Amino acid sequence: MSPTTPGLHHVTAIAGDPQENADFYVGTLGLRFVKRTVNHDDTGTYHFYFGDEGGTPGTNITFFPWSDRGRQGEFGAGQTQATAYLIPTDSVDYWQDRLESAGLAVDRTERFGEPVLGFSDPDGIRLELVAPGDDVIAESDATPWEDGPVPTEHQLRGFHSVTLAVSEFGPTATILTDVLGYELEAEDETGADTASSANRRRRYRSAAGGPASVVDLVETDAGRGRMGVGTVHHVAFEAADLDEQAQWREAYAEQGLSPSEVIDRKYFQSVYTREPGGVLFEMATTGPGFTADEEYEELGSSLVLPEHLEDERERIESQLPAFDGPEVASTDE
Ligand code: ZN
Repeated sequence: MSPTTPGLHHVTAIAGDPQENADFYVGTLGLRFVKRTVNHDDTGTYHFYFGDEGGTPGTNITFFPWSDRGRQGEFGAGQTQATAYLIPTDSVDYWQDRLESAGLAVDRTERFGEPVLGFSDPDGIRLELVAPGDDVIAESDATPWEDGPVPTEHQLRGFHSVTLAVSEFGPTATILTDVLGYELEAEDETGADTASSANRRRRYRSAAGGPASVVDLVETDAGRGRMGVGTVHHVAFEAADLDEQAQWREAYAEQGLSPSEVIDRKYFQSVYTREPGGVLFEMATTGPGFTADEEYEELGSSLVLPEHLEDERERIESQLPAFDGPEVASTDE
């Protein structure tokens, strides 16, 4: 029996313009820019990480901005339909105002009794802010960003969930329950959730039950999606350490899947597996975290490269697209 993950570690998506991407996640959503590096597998592309003040696992959304290629993705089965962050109950009105003031179309609904604000980022990536209640917020490990543009009491508190679109529940559900330790918690078969293209939704929660412990599955009639700008690349679940990660590698293999070798991502160790519904799942270790190569106060302030790429820094920097760092308006307190 493999271990039970506490839930999401990070979510990685493909953006277009790096400047617009950073301005939105920092300036509008108030996340801290905790790491500025390159895609280790494609050094002509930035890799940006946005999270809470310390980049705590369970708070980080990361991007590969593909500004030079611009291949637009297409939403469909085998993809993440929405990525949801937690907000306090008293912050729902604040966020609706803040997002609408930024010119975003906000869809305010309720799902399984929880208020949800739905909207899209500049590249069309679907995001949600969910207010499940202050007992959940109290459990969040997220550290508010003292110098951020959003008052600390309203800041995002890490992930609530991801919603994965699949052509049928079964194969992906089996991986969630038999490999990762999730349990079916609720179902909506009524089609009442008109906010999504799909109308059957099942909610799974990790038996370890932390704040980032929810995965929703929706069934969609859409064909297979195509990865590109405006789509999520992969969803990472948290593994406490290499030993747990090794147990999941084995459990995936027992399901007939082909997990990757362990890859050193500098801030965590990663194993990737394409689950049978088509979504790329990563198992990422909790540590060592973003202070592995920068001081806490300096996180995200300059381009950092893994040691093996330092010799090529000049060439790498010259090939990256224009980017000035996120623009942050003064705090509106
Ligand atoms: Zn990842």
